[in-house]
Amino acid sequence: MLNRMTLQILKQVVEKPFTNLFPVPHMPDNLGEVLKAAAEGRVQINPPVEVPKHFRGKIAYDKGKCIGCRLCTRVCPANAITYIPEEKKVMVHVDRCCFCAQCTEICPVQCLWMTEEFLISSYDRKAQVVVDSGKKAEEVPQVERIPSEAQRVETSAPEAASS
Ligand code: SF4
Ligand code: SF4
Repeated sequence: MLNRMTLQILKQVVEKPFTNLFPVPHMPDNLGEVLKAAAEGRVQINPPVEVPKHFRGKIAYDKGKCIGCRLCTRVCPANAITYIPEEKKVMVHVDRCCFCAQCTEICPVQCLWMTEEFLISSYDRKAQVVVDSGKKAEEVPQVERIPSEAQRVETSAPEAASS
């Protein structure tokens, strides 16, 4: 009979593969030459590659939502999350991150999440530190669209005509 752990493993195999595959299946032999050709207009670089479901890319952090509980720092196997005691917040060193997503799973307020961003190499170490990514896209309230004067006239025109 399947116990709880076996079910969990099976679920992860199906839903969240342990291996986080790099989403580009074919890389050119000479990337520099391709980029040069693209800059000269000789080749066109296709739009961003679609990433697989549950892909774990660069981590994002909503600092405003963080409650400073430090659980993420305790589970991180790469020591990539630093607690800032003066602020009771954290910062994430992406250059140390191994994209395991354990911090995102333990965070009680879901203020850490994995994005689909994967081209993140940089010569600047400061660019590899996430201090605040703002709110998650689906948590940003949608601004109510106010119809223009012309649209209001257009909408009310049939009523005016029928009266
Ligand atoms: S994804 Fe994993 S390695 Fe990266 S910061 Fe979170 S816990 Fe640490
Ligand atoms: S687990 Fe979440 S709420 Fe707690 S310190 Fe880390 S980011 Fe902040």
